[in-house]
Amino acid sequence: MSANSGNFRPTISEKRWDKRIEEELIRVWEEEDLYKFTYDPRKPIIVIDTPPPYPSGKWHVGGAAHYVQIDMVARYFRMKGWNVRVPWYADRNGLPVEVAVEKKYKVNAHELAKTREGRLRFLELCKRELDAIEAELVKIWKRLGCSFEYWKDGTDSPTYRRITQSTFIELWKRGLIYEAERPVNWCPRCRTTLSEAEIEYKEEKGYLYYVKWKVKETGEEIVIATTRPELIGATVAVAYNPEDSRYKHLKGKHAIVPLYEYEVPIIEHSSIDPSFGTGIMMVSTYGDWHDEMIVKEAGLKPRVIIEPNGKMSGLAGFLAGLSVRKAREKIVEVLEEKGLLVKREEIQHNVPVCWRCKTPIEIIHVKEYFLKQMEFKEELKKIVHRMQIKPEKHRQKLLDWIESIKMDWPISRTRYYGTEIPLWTCKKCGAKLVPEPGRYYRPWLEEPPWSKCPNCGAPREHLEGEKRVFDTWFDSSISVLYASGYMREQDIFERVFSGEIPWTLRPQGVD
Ligand SMILES: [Zn+2]
Ligand SMILES: [Zn+2]
Repeated sequence: MSANSGNFRPTISEKRWDKRIEEELIRVWEEEDLYKFTYDPRKPIIVIDTPPPYPSGKWHVGGAAHYVQIDMVARYFRMKGWNVRVPWYADRNGLPVEVAVEKKYKVNAHELAKTREGRLRFLELCKRELDAIEAELVKIWKRLGCSFEYWKDGTDSPTYRRITQSTFIELWKRGLIYEAERPVNWCPRCRTTLSEAEIEYKEEKGYLYYVKWKVKETGEEIVIATTRPELIGATVAVAYNPEDSRYKHLKGKHAIVPLYEYEVPIIEHSSIDPSFGTGIMMVSTYGDWHDEMIVKEAGLKPRVIIEPNGKMSGLAGFLAGLSVRKAREKIVEVLEEKGLLVKREEIQHNVPVCWRCKTPIEIIHVKEYFLKQMEFKEELKKIVHRMQIKPEKHRQKLLDWIESIKMDWPISRTRYYGTEIPLWTCKKCGAKLVPEPGRYYRPWLEEPPWSKCPNCGAPREHLEGEKRVFDTWFDSSISVLYASGYMREQDIFERVFSGEIPWTLRPQGVD
């Protein structure tokens, strides 16, 4: 310490930071359009594939911190003299806003969308809702001093949607998309298919019901435990573990389904846990994905008794028309009356629910469009090994996630605020018609782009526009193309994807 430190005069005399200075700075930056991206072909380039946030309310501090970190990376590369593209736009498609609007205005999207006018009105309400929340988010990141380029065209803009649709058309032409009736995760309230990423688990108190069954050939009684007695009538087999000596003598015999009185085969399956319940279980279509696997492997014929609206179907007999929950109460009553219920055990279990409305999901058969992904798992893993991932430990997360994929991806949704599936069906010959890529198509609203069916020549009136939209993750999956200027700035796009590994960076928080 020097003797005259007492005379030190700091250049900045204020002892406290004045927030008004920040506001003034932001105003100047805005005026100068300081963060507008300008491309200099002589300099290296990096595109930051900013994860578009979903406008579902104000950010909590974690969200804010995440975007500030992205900004730090952008500033680092800018200081190194690179071309840095770091856009900010919102991910606006999908179920959350629809559910919010349904609640706020007390409307039902499926009812409204029965007419074109109603569907347009519903979309307008969703848009208004999203605009308000988005404006709030933009204010927050600007106030944080983030140097993003604001793109008003979010994932619901024609600019973005035509890229989503072009991707679909390209995949369709390569034979990677097919339509099939398959078991899918289904939300009975939203009446839509959900992807594996759209399911949450809620820990809940429930019961394990021990129910008496009969073996047809020997008349002996077996006790089967289930958390879903309402699905007794959906049973297609009874199964035990081949190592389990208690049941070995039942191989090849049949069980009589209680109350429904039809017979099902008794089979062995190595996936059955002998320590769960009594070690012998009913395989119903579908109690869960474990059932689905056994049904598929054993080639059993499904017997689905839940309708898309979450009510029991005619096949459910005396439970027909009841909701799943009511049906469970009812059947337990009847089983008790008839002396078929041995006991009930209280348990804690994880119930899969819809990520938006928290309704328990059901597995039912629905006709949807699927994108092939199972056959690409190994190839995808190879790509993950070529990527640079920081910190390294997160590489395993991505690999585990790819490994966990169990089925092709159902990409169609019976909802409204989403990118339309660009497809028309000829009612005469059944042909599925996909237009040329390039523009944004709205098949439920506009005339087909052909004057007659290109397949059978039927007049235009026979061509019916697809009403469904894409799973919102189908939009999200192409964000890197959007950020890189795909279909808009060919020079930038080609430069970014010219090398072995594209010059893109994906910041990703942990979900
Ligand atoms: Zn739902
Ligand atoms: Zn035709």
